[in-house]
Amino acid sequence: MEAIKKIEIEEIVKGIPGGFFIYYANGAEEIIYANQEVVYLYGCDTRDEFLEYTNGSFKGMVHPEDLERVEKSIADQIAGNPRNFDYVEYRALPKGGGVKWIEDFGHFVKSDIYGEVFYVFITDVTEKMERNIKQKKRLMNLAIDQELLRKSLESTVYSFVKVYMINLRDGYSREIYPDISNEENKKYIDAIDAYITPENVMEEEGRRLRILLQPEHLQKALVERDSVEYRYRRKLPDSSVEWCVMVFTVSDRDKGLPITVTLGIRSIEKLIQKENQQRLLLESAFMRARQASEAKTIFLANMSHDIRTPMNAVVGFAELGLRHGNSPEKMRECLRKIQDSSQVLLRLIDDILDMSRIEADRLRIEPESYDLLEIMPQVYQMVEKEIHDKGLKFSYDFSGIKDRVVFCDPTRMKQVLYNLVGNAVKFTPAGGKIDVRISQYESLSNGIENYEFIIRDTGIGIASEFLAKIFIPFEREKNTTVSGNFGVGLGLPITKNIVDLMNGSIETESEVGKGSTFIVRIPFQVVREMEEQEAHAQEDQHTFSGLAGKQVLLVEDNELNREIARELLEEYHLLVDEAEDGDIALEMLQNGEKEYDVILMDIQMPRMNGYEATKAIRGLSGSKFSRIPIIALSANAFEEDKRMAISSGMNHHLSKPMDIEKVLYTMKQLLDAE
Ligand code: ADP
Repeated sequence: MEAIKKIEIEEIVKGIPGGFFIYYANGAEEIIYANQEVVYLYGCDTRDEFLEYTNGSFKGMVHPEDLERVEKSIADQIAGNPRNFDYVEYRALPKGGGVKWIEDFGHFVKSDIYGEVFYVFITDVTEKMERNIKQKKRLMNLAIDQELLRKSLESTVYSFVKVYMINLRDGYSREIYPDISNEENKKYIDAIDAYITPENVMEEEGRRLRILLQPEHLQKALVERDSVEYRYRRKLPDSSVEWCVMVFTVSDRDKGLPITVTLGIRSIEKLIQKENQQRLLLESAFMRARQASEAKTIFLANMSHDIRTPMNAVVGFAELGLRHGNSPEKMRECLRKIQDSSQVLLRLIDDILDMSRIEADRLRIEPESYDLLEIMPQVYQMVEKEIHDKGLKFSYDFSGIKDRVVFCDPTRMKQVLYNLVGNAVKFTPAGGKIDVRISQYESLSNGIENYEFIIRDTGIGIASEFLAKIFIPFEREKNTTVSGNFGVGLGLPITKNIVDLMNGSIETESEVGKGSTFIVRIPFQVVREMEEQEAHAQEDQHTFSGLAGKQVLLVEDNELNREIARELLEEYHLLVDEAEDGDIALEMLQNGEKEYDVILMDIQMPRMNGYEATKAIRGLSGSKFSRIPIIALSANAFEEDKRMAISSGMNHHLSKPMDIEKVLYTMKQLLDAE
């Protein structure tokens, strides 16, 4: 009975679809029974083979990597509700190789005969699992794609109207923005064809784009760069055109080759407009720079002309003077002409120097109390001869001045008036008239008065186009060069700069053929204690008698300069010794044959220059060497040169050509202060 029943059970169990087996729920998990389906599933033909292959244990049926998870599931089943099936998935390694996925429904039972056992139904779900895994992978890839896309988008500042994902390897593309849900893959080449049509893209650019957008070309372009951009013009439905850009960014590479590429398309119409604006700005800046450089070139040409003309006169009259050695009258005439031309040259050099000071922002106003009415006679002196020669009428009216003494820079103020009056004289033909009027107006600020200087002439006038450029450096009207007037077109720009620095203004009115008017307005602080100032001014009168007999050491490498200086100094009865450079001067001082009261020191000299010589002199032992006044006499007239002279140990700096009165005055001040 029992045996029959046994067979029947075997028969029944055989009929159970799928795999079925029973094993002991003890530690060894020994297999009690396995149906043929299980045997086949594990790649075996017979049950014995199967038992041998699995070592007769459930443990041998599970992929070692999944065993821990499966064991845990078994333990849970035993501890939990035994009436429920335990469900677990694991991998099996069938005998013939490969991997199978098993779906396992187990049930824990305590049987009277076998004790605690597991009944297990298993199914081969490899196919289903593989499908699932594929699906999962696809989903994961999608997630990765999205992440890459997000990153690519974030890494660009553009706001795209459309974004595509292109797989250069399989040649498919997909729109992912704005229609991100559109998962339809299109052949990339077809997508290009659909996009680059004569209706959509300007024709010639379409041809170019088509080449650039070929997968092979993109791949090449993106090997070493992470992104490339192609600009093109897109046609809009209303037949207008807008500039767009295609930006290709690599999202994914394989061995350096770009595989996945995002393509963003956006309008750059505004950017192009801005670029055009900037280009125009650049072009106009370039034009201005070119004009400025042309003006400078013209200036150089003019300047060499303007230097050459008086220079020729100097050379020519010097030559003539030498020939007229026996006629003092003719000689004097030559010297006078040399003097005139030298003055012209000097003014030119002063102007150039002033202009470079202005350009370097180094022009300084040094105000002091000064009688304004002293200026015009001095300016007049400078133009008197020309006025006389041309037969010009000159009138000067200062009746409008109440406060004559003001706080102003006399040198610069003189320069302003001289430039304007000088021009009026220059550009007014014979028989013309020049009026200068100075007036004073009250201002709202206490102690400050407004002064107005009007210079009016009946000269050739200035054309209105040129009037607009009159204060621009190096500009001058063409006819003035032709007419042979000196000047390089720096006078008025310098004048305007000085007036600006004095917080004033300058205006011009002019009519060609009728004449010009220049109006300068400057606020000055008034100095009311005039008597005191006058007394002081008189006291200051330079009396140089005290300098007679003083011993001067003249350090200068240029023989001609030494000669001029010696002659002028000796006229005032000073005693002069000469040294050709710093080295010689130092030697003369060191050997102590003579004691010098003052040293006049040139700066640029061979062997030892003025700065070095001064430092060496100050370093000599003996207090007289640290005290002896040293005055720099130098052609370098910039502020730095002065500063360097002082810092090397000199007491004062005077610029060349040597102004004997200034030299004597400085000497007196320094010697008196001792
Ligand atoms: P320049 O050293 O050449 O005189 P300026 O700057 O003083 O330079 O003057 C520039 C140009 O302005 C002159 O060359 C001349 O063409 C014009 N100009 C200046 N003042 C007058 C004036 N009073 N009458 C006519 N033209 C003038």
